Amino acid sequence: MSIYNTAADAANTAVRAFLTQIGEYYLERSFNSGSGKSKSDWERIKTEIFNNLCAYCGKEGQKLQMDHLIMFNRTEFGLHHPGNIVPACNGCNSRSKKEDKTYSNWEEHLSYICEKNNEKDKFYDRWKRIKYHITESEFKYPVLSDEEKKAIQIIANNLYDNVKTEFEGAIKLYEELDKAFSKRKNS
Ligand SMILES: [Zn+2]
Repeated sequence: MSIYNTAADAANTAVRAFLTQIGEYYLERSFNSGSGKSKSDWERIKTEIFNNLCAYCGKEGQKLQMDHLIMFNRTEFGLHHPGNIVPACNGCNSRSKKEDKTYSNWEEHLSYICEKNNEKDKFYDRWKRIKYHITESEFKYPVLSDEEKKAIQIIANNLYDNVKTEFEGAIKLYEELDKAFSKRKNS
């Protein structure tokens, strides 16, 4: 967590909070993976579905972090939902980029990792496990229509712009007020 916060950070935080709430809307309960049932869900995803291995490189004995398959930001508008999280080691948790500098989706990322580690033959098994998690397991991700996906994008982008504008307005307001205070002090 950075100490230096910008208007864009505030706006991105608002977008993540929105994607969390929409994830909970589909899940029909809270999903705070730090405590209670949500925490045990995350433990079970790690142990029962992924056997305590990184979902991408398959290494064991790594400290496994939560990776959102559909990125939890304005790149892919993934929801914070048990069906969207998989265990990833530190190295695999930072998403690779393609030649055109845009982020890989999770399938491209998996392919990149397998190729990098000379394990192309492992791609299909890992891909199948992740697919099972998303589409068949009890944690499965909600199936969203194109309309629903589009609505999430539009609303999240709108929220981002509004928070950024509000934030910049707040700074401006303070600067103007402060000028007025100093004028009063000096008169
Ligand atoms: Zn890994």
